Amino acid sequence: MKKFFILLAAFALSAIVTADAQKKIPPVHRTCNESTFRRTEIILPQVKGYNCYKGDFHVHTSYSDGVVTPAGRVAEAWYDGLDIIAITDHLEGHSGVRRFFKVTAPYNKNGKPTRYVAAGSTSMPKSGKDPGVKIDFNAIHKEAESANKSKGYGLLLIKGCEMARNKLKLGHYNALFVEDLNTIYNYDIREAFRNVKKQGGIVIHNHPGNVAKYETDWHHSARKEGLISGVEIANGFSFYPQMLDRCVNEKLTLFGNTDTHGVTSHRYSTTGFYRTMTIVLAKELTEKAVKDAVLKRRTIVYSGGDLIGEEEWLSEFLNAAIDCRLLREDKEKGSRTYILTNKTSFTYTFRRGKTMHQLEPFHSLTFSFGKDKKSGKYTAPKVNVQNMWIAGYKHPTIELKKDK
Ligand SMILES: [Zn+2]
Ligand SMILES: [Zn+2]
Repeated sequence: MKKFFILLAAFALSAIVTADAQKKIPPVHRTCNESTFRRTEIILPQVKGYNCYKGDFHVHTSYSDGVVTPAGRVAEAWYDGLDIIAITDHLEGHSGVRRFFKVTAPYNKNGKPTRYVAAGSTSMPKSGKDPGVKIDFNAIHKEAESANKSKGYGLLLIKGCEMARNKLKLGHYNALFVEDLNTIYNYDIREAFRNVKKQGGIVIHNHPGNVAKYETDWHHSARKEGLISGVEIANGFSFYPQMLDRCVNEKLTLFGNTDTHGVTSHRYSTTGFYRTMTIVLAKELTEKAVKDAVLKRRTIVYSGGDLIGEEEWLSEFLNAAIDCRLLREDKEKGSRTYILTNKTSFTYTFRRGKTMHQLEPFHSLTFSFGKDKKSGKYTAPKVNVQNMWIAGYKHPTIELKKDK
């Protein structure tokens, strides 16, 4: 009998424990709080009273030949730490729209899917009739803007598109800062450029890897007419040194863009570099201020860890990025040692003699400088920056301002 009661008590206890345990098992357990959004912050200095805004003025969406939607591009830009983005889908090619049409098109009388008729063209059809454009390009921009607003990203979206005339070997160009994307296309691309200008926009020459492409009579006269304002001296990880010289000689604005078609992080996060960008030195993050900076050529290009630009701006940038202070003076040796502190997210590589020194983000290093043999005076702290490029395919040697 006693045994029976012990068994009964044990059974009752186990039932209570099981019920209790079941009560404690929640129906959902979150393994990661996915509602917390994260952004890469790229810290850059104030240069001569201007803020350094990070922009990508050349990206494609799934409406032309990209794989990411406009809302996806906006999200990518925000996560990647950018401030400005221009969605520049092709005016003349919309493999994406054609793809969507295949899925959504109604069937015609014969039961076959209605086919999408190409909008615009890079070559004149046999009929000789200008094909025109049959797509609402402004809707692409609106879609991106509504994502930007609803998520509260606060990015500056610049209205743009890409124009191409491959067959005539004229190259690819971006229209930027335009009002109405639907009234730009013209089979004569020079007329399209004029349409851009009429709207107060600018045209930039994209990925001009083949130098011959801008040395034709057509390019010379387009330039004379003032139709081209800037050049992509870097497209993705390709830097075109001859184009940097061209920009300096012809007073064109320097751009560095991703021209991303796929998922942007696939290309950049694995390399350990930020995505290629145009650093715009502007007073504020408004279209007016950014356009003013672009027209006045206040840009620096970042690609694959390298900074490319006009010597004057690179010098100002480095001096704003680095604090240089006198650490000690050795009168016997006749040397002064300075401490260089990097206040930015970029790495700078200095060459001293045959040795390379990397100044990592938010780190310091020390350099000693002796006296000039002739004058007997201490030499100023100067650095040759190996990951900066100026015209002539050269690295600048920059004097650091002390104790700013
Ligand atoms: Zn292109
Ligand atoms: Zn493109």
